Amino acid sequence: MKAAYLKAPRQFEVREIELREIHEDEVIVDVRACGYCGHDNILASYHAKEWEPFGHEFAGVVSKVGGRVRGLVPGDKVCIETNMFDPLSDCARNGRPDLDTLPLGSSFMDLDKGHRGGMGFAEQVIVPGDLCVKFDGLSFEEACMIEPLGVAYDIVKTADIRLNDGVLVFGCGPIGLMAMKLAKASGARRIYAAQHAASAARCELAARYGADEMIFTDRQSLGDYAFEKGGVDRVLMTVPPKFMGEALGVMNAGGILSFAGISYNEPMVTFDSNKVHLDKLQIRGSNAIPALYFPMCIEMVKAGIVELKPLISHRMRLETLPEDLARYYSERDKAVKAVMVRD
Ligand SMILES: [Zn+2]
Repeated sequence: MKAAYLKAPRQFEVREIELREIHEDEVIVDVRACGYCGHDNILASYHAKEWEPFGHEFAGVVSKVGGRVRGLVPGDKVCIETNMFDPLSDCARNGRPDLDTLPLGSSFMDLDKGHRGGMGFAEQVIVPGDLCVKFDGLSFEEACMIEPLGVAYDIVKTADIRLNDGVLVFGCGPIGLMAMKLAKASGARRIYAAQHAASAARCELAARYGADEMIFTDRQSLGDYAFEKGGVDRVLMTVPPKFMGEALGVMNAGGILSFAGISYNEPMVTFDSNKVHLDKLQIRGSNAIPALYFPMCIEMVKAGIVELKPLISHRMRLETLPEDLARYYSERDKAVKAVMVRD
């Protein structure tokens, strides 16, 4: 069967590989859709020194079930959590499974190190049964975006948005756009979307996803923008960490900045600590490890609270993935989300 691999800088290859036998607690998922994530982009752009399989945002149909897997049968439609908290960990037992940030048990990402074969960009994938969340009533291309929607939900939850808040969404990629929609649904009154003007499709979608005002960060610095209340009450930040100081600079007293985004090359930041002290600001980290909230995200998409299909700017095929990704990279103005679909 076919599986895709990547290596920096931006090399992609589709290989013919053999799936190993599944263990008792695993299933085989026939992949029907897989999203290309910002993290895949980091791997492809500079982090992957060796060839490695990729794709963790996927959905498909269960085709084989190990003997000890509960609640799944062949034919079930599932989307996949990247990892899961250990229910026996102290934090889970203390009622905070979300704090089990190094889950040793079920992790789709770690499984890969055990020469399992491919990841989501493949015809079939071996997955721990515990990571499969069943769904109905969504298309597969929507279902593969439940994973990033869970990431967006975590950012919004972490920001603790209150009725009438002014919210700055810093970065209008797929996660930022989803978070924008959820922020509006959470009671934000005015949403400011900050994004480079060159990403035309992202700017256009921002209006559809709830932005009241657009700030083009390549033309104007945040500090020069005339915010209605002088600044903002909340920041949802998905741009690289080096922009944190700029975001903190436009926050109103008591503000909360919710940040998500791993940086391998520039994790250190500087900001005005007096501003944080005097204005009682909070910087809160959001991290979707362990993956949570899938059932709720499925419900929200079905209820129309957030639309996922408009985010797909590029549909790709496994067979032509290298060419399709090259096209995605070359069309920067159109690029929002690239999704592989299979019949
Ligand atoms: Zn992702």
